[in-house]
Amino acid sequence: MSLLEVKGLKKYYPLPPEHLFGKKRFVKALDGVSFTLERGETLGLVGESGCGKSTLGRALVRLEEPTAGEVILNGEDMLSLKGTALRKKRGAFQMIFQDPYGSLNPRMTIFSTLEEPLLLHTDLNAAERAEQVAKLMQMVGLDPKLSDRYPHQFSGGQRQRIGIARALAVNPDFIVADEPVSALDVSVQAAIVNLLGDLQKDRNFGMIFIAHDLAVVEHIADRIMVMYLGKTVEVAPAEELCRNPKHPYSKALLSAVPGLHPDGKERIVLQGDVPSPLNPPSGCRFHPRCPACMPVCKEKEPEMKAVPGCPSCSCACHLI
Ligand code: SF4
Repeated sequence: MSLLEVKGLKKYYPLPPEHLFGKKRFVKALDGVSFTLERGETLGLVGESGCGKSTLGRALVRLEEPTAGEVILNGEDMLSLKGTALRKKRGAFQMIFQDPYGSLNPRMTIFSTLEEPLLLHTDLNAAERAEQVAKLMQMVGLDPKLSDRYPHQFSGGQRQRIGIARALAVNPDFIVADEPVSALDVSVQAAIVNLLGDLQKDRNFGMIFIAHDLAVVEHIADRIMVMYLGKTVEVAPAEELCRNPKHPYSKALLSAVPGLHPDGKERIVLQGDVPSPLNPPSGCRFHPRCPACMPVCKEKEPEMKAVPGCPSCSCACHLI
């Protein structure tokens, strides 16, 4: 049994009709996404802005209420949990945010910030909580003597370390790291990515790592999932996807990353912008921008299917 099994997850945002008797309209930010995540595995999520990767991350930790689908964690249906049952379970799935400053309460000391999840999700007494806060600070490379300070007294990299400590305080089964290094100086990005990787080896949690920087994702992820306009278009082991992408969109994304050009080929420049998820193109959603578009692509939506010769790869494209 996989740690996490996501089936047909959808998130539609309703919009008012265009006129009084008009049809209901929806922005389909996530439109039937399915995948699995194993314990100790990192799944990298990539795609242009607006592809649904952040919505997916937020839906998995219930910061957004999905419209449909299933999220099964350790065999238990997470989406059926409500109220107290959901609050009790929240320790099992945590999120690390892009902006480490915005995600920390500026009026709370670091001690209170790290103690809060322990108060909510454990029965530890005050002395045990203090000991645990000190351990958490050490775990992320911070001096526990600094726990009486406030977030503004730390650098961006240190604040992200505090965000990681808070997310791991109650030993979650999986975490969603949403662009955790993109707001940080390049000089500290590698240290934070390596810290996350080391902590994962120690604690064996599953991780969804969302980033627009494919070079960072390739470094940390075991598998990579490429999303386009609310759908998954390709999933493959990280090395395979970076070396030999199958989907024309993955090829274009990779061709834009210096040092990751598949087969040393030229950069593929996609025409036009990502279409609106309010009115996605017919057939394959990528067809208006696809350099390999065929007549069938405009009419028939390609399904995710196994790639011949690569059993752990799947792709949604009529060329496969
Ligand atoms: Fe391109 Fe057609 Fe494949 Fe879509 S299905 S990615 S349009 S070739």
